Amino acid sequence: MTVPRDEHERTLAFAQVALNQIRALAEPATPRNFSIWYHYATGYNPALNGAINKALDQKHTLADAELEQIYDTYIATTRVTDSVDTVGSRVLDEIKQVLAMIDAASGSTTSYSESLADASAKLAGTGDRETLRAVIERLIEGTREMEVNNKKLESSLSASRQEIEQLQQNLAVVRTESQTDALTGLANRKLFDNALVKAIAEAKEKNEPLSLLMADVDHFKLFNDKFGHQTGDQVLRLVAQSIKQNVKDHDIAARYGGEEFVIALPGTVLRSAINVADQIRRAVMAKELMKRSSGERLGRVTLSVGVALLRRSDTPQSLIERADKCLYAAKRNGRNRVICETDPEAEAGNQGSPAARVA
Ligand code: GH3
Ligand code: MG
Ligand code: MG
Repeated sequence: MTVPRDEHERTLAFAQVALNQIRALAEPATPRNFSIWYHYATGYNPALNGAINKALDQKHTLADAELEQIYDTYIATTRVTDSVDTVGSRVLDEIKQVLAMIDAASGSTTSYSESLADASAKLAGTGDRETLRAVIERLIEGTREMEVNNKKLESSLSASRQEIEQLQQNLAVVRTESQTDALTGLANRKLFDNALVKAIAEAKEKNEPLSLLMADVDHFKLFNDKFGHQTGDQVLRLVAQSIKQNVKDHDIAARYGGEEFVIALPGTVLRSAINVADQIRRAVMAKELMKRSSGERLGRVTLSVGVALLRRSDTPQSLIERADKCLYAAKRNGRNRVICETDPEAEAGNQGSPAARVA
């Protein structure tokens, strides 16, 4: 792949800033540290820059543990898996401890029952007051021991309960992260696929309409080649924002892959779905793009959207395919437009003329 000259120079400048930072702070020039400072230099991840600036303002330096934490939080793509592993092994440890406590408790209950049985046997065979007193004292002592053990068990169980509740909360966060597209904050494809199966079943059961939108950024490859991948990422965030602003809570909007987005609209007829699609298309087109770091004007991007309405015979796959065909038709007919399956253009595409999508 040939890289445009200004892209080459821009990225070299980021690399230079990264190396200067490493030098100034006398840090090891490891890939991890380079990656952190490169991201910092681009300014594309404001949360990462915020965290670093805060630490630098306070101490003018960053400890290795802080760098590691920053990397894990803002850069590492493996962080969800790692968190699942960590939380998972902590749950197992906690369960092991609870089991050990239950074992200990049942052990002490057994010996207490044995001492009761022993006392009862002794009581049956004696009328002697001294023996009687000794037996009763042992019983009282045994009961006290049981009480102490029960108290210990109670407080250990309550500590475990708190720990498990905390782990549950962590798992809920990790679960949400694993279903979210990290770049845009929209649902990811996995979540969407599951949600669509449910939404379709519900629509059929209640005999309600459900529409599906497939949207794709026009000529995005050109945009990326011209302005760089990082700027392209910013644009994807912006498209996602326009989508979020134009859908309702019960709609399911997701990044379906690359620069392609999908939205299921339960309880929505085709006409209303077309309106939503057009609002999103207009919102994206209305935004004049500007590079945050340099103020450079980048023009505008546009969206093509295909819209299909659920039929009783549909599977999730067949519904998606019809929306996708409409999306191809929108591309074929000049892009920056919404086409639904009842439009003549969509029909023309379905009747076999090859989809002329520019790849
Ligand atoms: P069309 O109008 O026909 O959709 O043309 P296009 O250039 O948008 O489509 P094509 O499929 O040829 O290119 C899609 C491009 O999207 C290729 C890739 O560079 C870019 N892309 C995919 N995923 C990402 C991403 O996560 N970030 C960035 N910046 N670009 C991405
Ligand atoms: Mg595209
Ligand atoms: Mg595409």
